Amino acid sequence: MRTSLVIANWKLNGDAELLKSFAEHFHQSEIQQHIGVAICPPAVYLKTADVLLNAIGVKVGGQNCSEFEQGAYTGEISAQMLADSGCRYVLIGHSERRALFAESDAVMAGKVQQAQAAGLTPVLCIGETLEQREAGELEQVIEQQLSSACKEVDFENLVIAYEPVWAIGTGKTATPAQAQDVHRLIRNWVATKAPEAAQKIQILYGGSVKADNATELFSQADIDGGLIGGASLDTEQFAAICQAA
Ligand code: 13P
Repeated sequence: MRTSLVIANWKLNGDAELLKSFAEHFHQSEIQQHIGVAICPPAVYLKTADVLLNAIGVKVGGQNCSEFEQGAYTGEISAQMLADSGCRYVLIGHSERRALFAESDAVMAGKVQQAQAAGLTPVLCIGETLEQREAGELEQVIEQQLSSACKEVDFENLVIAYEPVWAIGTGKTATPAQAQDVHRLIRNWVATKAPEAAQKIQILYGGSVKADNATELFSQADIDGGLIGGASLDTEQFAAICQAA
């Protein structure tokens, strides 16, 4: 039996006030005692998040980490630095990083390895564009993203987030059946590498998840929770999504 996990990806949004509002809400609701809940704020707020959230059982995550351990890489943040700031998770390979910041499949394996070496749980984000789906390349794209990122990876300490690019920030959610098909494909792929871990690994869905579509998505057999963008900036709505998990 897998525990559900819901992660907020604030992207380039939010501030210390929003963290305080989350802390107050979750302090009272205690949903995080029953499922995993994590917030990924912009990096400069991680220490504040650590102080406010870790104490009440809400985990903290980074939105990205360097594929390098240390050195002359201006602007980068290492996985170990995230761990030192109280992070438990780090998002890796979000489609916005891939599309807007030219992060290729090739760098993902290094980031996953850095994250695990620092004791973090990487949340590997994968997903196809609409063109790829319509061209019948869905399976191939997903398997390519998985195999290039999962080199020398510990599948016991990995979360995978399926985020179809066409569903991110568009209001177009994948149907529960469409999402379930891809989640099954992902779990089957993991089973070819690590059969035992495949049953335990949490596979999250992301892309226009809202309070009103979360229940149906999360009730699918291979969907273990969500990675939430826009709706995670509203404390009440994010809490309602957590309740659905
Ligand atoms: P939205 O929930 O805004 O569609 O974003 C999803 C996402 O990219 C989470 O990482």
